[in-house]
Amino acid sequence: GEPSGKPALTLLVAAPRGFCAGVDRAIEIVERSLERYGAPVYVRHEIVHNRYVVDGLKAKGAIFVEELDEVPDGASVVFSAHGVPKSVPHEADRRKLDYLDATCPLVSKVHRQAERQIEAGRHIVFIGHQGHPEVIGTMGQVPDGTMTLVETAEDVAALSFTAEDPLAFLTQTTLSVDDTHAIVEALRIKYPHIVGPKAEDICYATSNRQAAVKQIAPGSDLVLVIGAPNSSNSLRLVEVAERLGTDARLIQRASEIDPTWLDGVGTLGLTAGASAPEKLVREVVDRISEWREVEEHTFVSAQEKMVFKLPRQLTD
Ligand code: SF4
Repeated sequence: GEPSGKPALTLLVAAPRGFCAGVDRAIEIVERSLERYGAPVYVRHEIVHNRYVVDGLKAKGAIFVEELDEVPDGASVVFSAHGVPKSVPHEADRRKLDYLDATCPLVSKVHRQAERQIEAGRHIVFIGHQGHPEVIGTMGQVPDGTMTLVETAEDVAALSFTAEDPLAFLTQTTLSVDDTHAIVEALRIKYPHIVGPKAEDICYATSNRQAAVKQIAPGSDLVLVIGAPNSSNSLRLVEVAERLGTDARLIQRASEIDPTWLDGVGTLGLTAGASAPEKLVREVVDRISEWREVEEHTFVSAQEKMVFKLPRQLTD
């Protein structure tokens, strides 16, 4: 076509990016519940950490609540992808609420490992971020006082267990692969008998998205990560780019991009956290195309074929 007069921009789009199998499944659970049971369907906590997704489900009749006491008797309630403490399904049973558990199967797997380690008489050191719903859910699988949270190698140094104490470690699924290796290493040095998963519990989607950013960041002047400020895996993507010396910014929507960010940027990297829909990626590309003549390249660093089954209540 005709030259547009807009300055050229090379856009490196990371793949895999965006939705993982656990997020796909969680959203489908809410959508199918709405079809099956009709609105309203209650959802305890943001089903996934993305406002666009949450608003879309609200428009279809989902009502988001923080705690079960906000759910009326007889209603249907969905638990979020991050998982819930055991007390939550217990309370739902007591209230005779119809509930569907959208906990990602990879988080449930960590829950079961936690139970097994406690049965085996071990104390658990859990690597994760304080206050994240997944951490609250996983710590709520075992009796109080049987799991200790560590966030850093310094936290490991401060642990007062002896080298003979029976210990196991587990991890949150959405951590930094590099930081977690270092923390596990510190644990293994201090507690050579500690038992743990073969790899950490960091999920395939988290590691693939971090590996993909490592591919695009070194050649980019700036990396944009689409994701929510409370999305752990999205924040880790920003860190990965920054540690490679590339400026990176977390944005929720295209409207947040300040055009001056692109001043002097010839190559822009773009990715999205596991809870960000592809629609938001296209929105960002369209917005940038208003200012620049974009030449888009996708860098595929892994193929993902993971699909998780829906709960039986929704497929019968
Ligand atoms: Fe499951 Fe990983 Fe997606 Fe979390 S990021 S929902 S653990 S697949």
